[in-house]
Amino acid sequence: MRIEGIENVRRILCVFPRYTSSFGTFEYAYPLTDGVQAFMPPQGLLLIAAYLPEHWPVRFIDENIRAATAEDFEWAEAVLVSGMHIQRQQMNDICRRAHAHDLAVAIGGPSVSACPDYYPSFDYLHVGELGDATDELIARLARDPSRPERQIVLKTADRLDMTRFPIPAYELAEIPRYFLGSIQYSSGCPYQCEFCDIPGLYGRNPRLKSPQQITAELDKLLECGIMGSVYFVDDNFIGNRKAALDLLPHLIEWQKKTGYVLRFSCEATLNIAKRPEILAGMREAYFCTIFCGIETPDPVALKAMHKDHNMMVPIMEAIETLNSFGMEVVSGIILGLDTDKPETGQHLLEFIEASQIPLLTINLLQALPQTPLWDRLKRENRLIEDEGRDSNVDFRLPYEDVVTTWRACMGSAYQPAKLLERYEYQIRHTYPKRLQPPRSPQQTSWKNIKLGLTMLRNIFWKVGVLCDYKIEFWKFALRRLARGEIEYLISSILVAHHLIMFARDASGGHTNASYYSLKLQEASVPAE
Ligand code: SF4
Repeated sequence: MRIEGIENVRRILCVFPRYTSSFGTFEYAYPLTDGVQAFMPPQGLLLIAAYLPEHWPVRFIDENIRAATAEDFEWAEAVLVSGMHIQRQQMNDICRRAHAHDLAVAIGGPSVSACPDYYPSFDYLHVGELGDATDELIARLARDPSRPERQIVLKTADRLDMTRFPIPAYELAEIPRYFLGSIQYSSGCPYQCEFCDIPGLYGRNPRLKSPQQITAELDKLLECGIMGSVYFVDDNFIGNRKAALDLLPHLIEWQKKTGYVLRFSCEATLNIAKRPEILAGMREAYFCTIFCGIETPDPVALKAMHKDHNMMVPIMEAIETLNSFGMEVVSGIILGLDTDKPETGQHLLEFIEASQIPLLTINLLQALPQTPLWDRLKRENRLIEDEGRDSNVDFRLPYEDVVTTWRACMGSAYQPAKLLERYEYQIRHTYPKRLQPPRSPQQTSWKNIKLGLTMLRNIFWKVGVLCDYKIEFWKFALRRLARGEIEYLISSILVAHHLIMFARDASGGHTNASYYSLKLQEASVPAE
């Protein structure tokens, strides 16, 4: 619901910062596609853009696609920025560039909400979710868009009910330029894993949109040119199990109506394996991938981090159950836990081989503000503020040993032959269990065929000819071609190529070992 009663017109520039190269942003896959340049449309900033008064002209720029130019800043009367901790340096850089044009800059989103202190230069800090602070910010900009004399902090006390959220302004983003579409149904998570800031930031009682809002958003994403997959960015898709069950029939209906042109993926806790009725609905709705924060295969470590819910079903059994509903599991893994031993890296590699999970995001433990982990490590005097380090945690094991283990695990897990073997397993065992929807006119359209041919050409040339793992590639690719599994070939290689190349950077010490690390890698700040 937009704020009403605003008469002045303000030109607002919304700028989303670049991501530092990371495992989960897939940038090595982009050159294999037909023009993808960024990971996912940013929900938060597009939501705010939709919430601004209808008569305010809004420009949205995702700096993962192109940098905001001097002309953009000259056009604007105020700038809005949003992002996560990993984008902190880039957000401060956008603020600096906006100030060079004497523009007021407001920052919102998860990073500033958790750590307002990170952003001393911004004119307005929007702390918390969409709500009364947003209305106050809009009212202030409407009255006077110039820079205030000192920083103003606006905190949301009264959050807008999610059923009143407008559809994010997807029309402002270049949706076909994104690797995945994104959508949000719920916010918050009932669990309290020690390292996680979600319950602190968004609450333990998940708030929800209505199923009708979700299908309307999907309609709009389609209108804006989305193809392929849409990711439910909810912190935990089954944070409210009844809500998930309520939504699924609407998604199934929508898929039938639109011809299954999209696949879905989501994040959920591993105990979803105990809910066959939810998994069956997800299969029917064409969920093909599920991200589970497995974190570690070590039960002692899971207990210590208060992630006991991962053990409600034995981990291997849970993975098999998800696979049996046609869903490939993607796993988050953390190294550097207090319970880690010198042999933890070896155990992780054994787990990867046994689970046959192709994609695992392996990160070093990082203590985020507003988490129980942060509080505990602060009490134990084990927080280290050093931007040259890959983690702010004083590990129990020597720091160098932990980083070396991380590099060794990345190097080994993503050797081309091993990774493609895991994809081979998924293609044989998991993908055949997926719903096999009838081919829709969109899928057999010339546009879609041309897209597939373009990606195949790129893959054959850039991987099959130019890459040094071409032998492993062709072994895998020829099997796919012989079986007519062209879609599997494309989808597996897009991701596998990124993982292989990124892991090489990682094991060579060219990337951060923590997703949240502040250690700046080159090229992470837009060059303007
Ligand atoms: S289950 Fe996931 S979202 Fe919920 S608290 Fe744990 S890590 Fe965070």
